[in-house]
Amino acid sequence: MNLIIMGAPGSGKGTQATQICKKHNLPHISTGDLLRKNIADGTDLGKKAKAYMDAGKLVPDDLVIALIKARFEEPDCKNGFLLDGFPRNSAQADVLGGIVEIDKAIYLDVDLGKIADRMAGRRVCPACGYSTSVDLAKDSKCKECGAALIIRDDDRRDVVENRLKVYSEQAAPLVEYYKAKGVLVTVDGNRSIDDVNKQIEDALK
Ligand code: AMP
Repeated sequence: MNLIIMGAPGSGKGTQATQICKKHNLPHISTGDLLRKNIADGTDLGKKAKAYMDAGKLVPDDLVIALIKARFEEPDCKNGFLLDGFPRNSAQADVLGGIVEIDKAIYLDVDLGKIADRMAGRRVCPACGYSTSVDLAKDSKCKECGAALIIRDDDRRDVVENRLKVYSEQAAPLVEYYKAKGVLVTVDGNRSIDDVNKQIEDALK
């Protein structure tokens, strides 16, 4: 099953992606995570990407497309995947369409007015990528691996505003793109994590 999960930054995509991948045994391919790993490892690609990411801007398409093509070559992708954070614009969607067929594009529809607050409360694990909110985290440790949770550099309020602007201009039109292809599943992302997950699983049946 080849899936995409779409939604504004802070819409709960990462949390839902983790659950879908566990249940359907799919690799979770997050371009944001892949880029952050390149930054942490000090690769050339990471060095090129960092300034864009710190400003809340999109990393140039050629870098991200090279990253995703290399990831598709890995053996765990042979029975499908869940893409999170890719495609981010129509140029990337066109390239993707030339490589693979998408079965479903899941769109988490959320109230953008609530996002900045949600993201200010987001905490992530730098070791395994687990993400939670400051309200749900029982302490400051990752519940999956025990590492200390952190606030991502680009979850600062000024950067969040720019990320939301970029999202509205470039990623939001992809909802129409996948609707026209007949693979769009729209889910009400304002509900609880479990409820959103149920809506997604019903659509995947
Ligand atoms: P995310 O973790 O998906 O919110 O992504 C964090 C940041 O990584 C974004 O604000 C972009 O700077 C960069 N990024 C992630 N995915 C892409 C993509 N498909 N195209 C361009 N930049 C990306």
